[in-house]
Amino acid sequence: MNLQYSEIMVRYGELSTKGKNRMRFINKLRRNIQDVLSIYPEVKVTADRDRCHVFLNGADYAPVAESLKQIFGIQAFNPVYRVEKDVAVLTEAVQAIMTDLYQEGLTFKVSSKRSDHQFELDSTQLNHTLGGAVFEVLPNIKAQMKKPDVNLKVEIREEAAYISHEEIRGAGGLPVGTAGKGMLMLSGGIDSPVAGYLSLKRGVDIEAVHFASPPYTSPGALKKAHDLTRKLTKFGGNIQFIEVPFTEIQEEIKEKAPEAYLMTLTRRFMMRITDRIRAKRDGRVIINGESLGQVASQTLESMQAINAVTSTPVIRPVVTMDKLEIIDLAEKIDTFSISIQPFEDCCTIFAPDRPKTNPKIKNVEQYEARLDVEGLVERAVAGIMVTEITPNEEADVVDELIDDLL
Ligand code: ATP
Ligand code: MG
Repeated sequence: MNLQYSEIMVRYGELSTKGKNRMRFINKLRRNIQDVLSIYPEVKVTADRDRCHVFLNGADYAPVAESLKQIFGIQAFNPVYRVEKDVAVLTEAVQAIMTDLYQEGLTFKVSSKRSDHQFELDSTQLNHTLGGAVFEVLPNIKAQMKKPDVNLKVEIREEAAYISHEEIRGAGGLPVGTAGKGMLMLSGGIDSPVAGYLSLKRGVDIEAVHFASPPYTSPGALKKAHDLTRKLTKFGGNIQFIEVPFTEIQEEIKEKAPEAYLMTLTRRFMMRITDRIRAKRDGRVIINGESLGQVASQTLESMQAINAVTSTPVIRPVVTMDKLEIIDLAEKIDTFSISIQPFEDCCTIFAPDRPKTNPKIKNVEQYEARLDVEGLVERAVAGIMVTEITPNEEADVVDELIDDLL
């Protein structure tokens, strides 16, 4: 008997189980699963109150399972075989499955459930019949009711019978989008993609805001940011990528402000612009990859000076993590190797040798008075370019253009 998984049943994680929110959560999760699994065109996804169903329709089980393991909001899932509702067919299927799994000392039990009450055997009879069928082909196997190695679950429903024996742990967390939207300031570095991943985990729908300063920054740096964003889509689906033209601002700052304050001023502009974009696109918070003490811009004094341009909450998921802890996560989510590609981003190019680690707000404001802050911010915001990044690289037109330029 050639058995193939036909469906995967997905159990919800830490959903806000209360009342009417539940359906909203479930629908979000279903759409996220659909987005992530869009790379497997045969797969269909449906959801009800208790479970989400992923129908393989001939797609390979293993890669789909790998994708499911990454999606936030899934607690666990079970691959299931769908077979005809017939005792002889069930018997043959159960024997085939157990023969395949068998090794010496294996313990098992059969747990049947019958929602079709017309079916000829009730659940106790099914347990006996199917258990007996297993002993017929595997006389040395042991039945064990408490914590068996294999718990063979058999469910008789209206349309068919379902068998499953495997339970795979999901990523946990909350479905992306259920916590609202945040703007992730995404450089090409190691830290900000990790900050993005951690926000996704708690259900934040992120949009990636990336500052580019062509011709000082290369198409390679932009592609790197796109690729990092694509890596983040596997946790909850498509992500809007917002490229901000930053050249004019960096040239202005470089020309008019003292070297030691370049970094502080640059960061304040980034924060203002991100906040403006956030307001326009209905985001709630700003997220960045700052980590305390890592570099000059990341002292408490610097954070204070940079943060002073907005009252919007700024979430810093990696703020108290050591670099090595961040790198571990970057490796786990497969962004590390992209992050270390040698393309300079806008900050490294304009970075002063000795940035101020304790910038004074009074000075900052004095230097900014030399610039047309409002005009610069407005022009940058007016010039943004938005691309939807999907898990499927081919769906991404901008990327192809950049590849040609490289
Ligand atoms: P990362 O590894 O994320 O680049 P970093 O350790 O290099 O961080 P900084 O360069 O000081 O630190 O940047 C701090 C944060 O500012 C970044 O984590 C990111 O959130 C934001 N940022 C820096 N450069 C850019 C950029 N070009 N576009 C968008 N955000 C940026
Ligand atoms: Mg950086």
